Amino acid sequence: MFQFAIHSANLFQSLLLQLRLVGAFSVLGLCSWSLISCIMDVITQAKKMHQIPCSKCRFFTGDYRLKCTVNPSVANTEQAIDCGDYRESQNS
Ligand code: SF4
Repeated sequence: MFQFAIHSANLFQSLLLQLRLVGAFSVLGLCSWSLISCIMDVITQAKKMHQIPCSKCRFFTGDYRLKCTVNPSVANTEQAIDCGDYRESQNS
């Protein structure tokens, strides 16, 4: 009877250890997934920001008070990606 109790306690401790390992790996997996997802979002956003053509446009002034003489409200924003008024600067 005493040995059965000891065996049951060992089995219970083994089960608890396995549950802790599963929990630890689950948390680690979620953290990794979150980190990878965050990095992918940053890369996607950076790629999108590099599509903004304003810095190479003839109408871009470089002055923060009036960034563009044609479309000042959309200059240097994501809305300027497909800007129909884009003209390549002759300086670059
Ligand atoms: S004309 Fe269009 S592409 Fe050129 S600077 Fe203005 S918003 Fe940007």
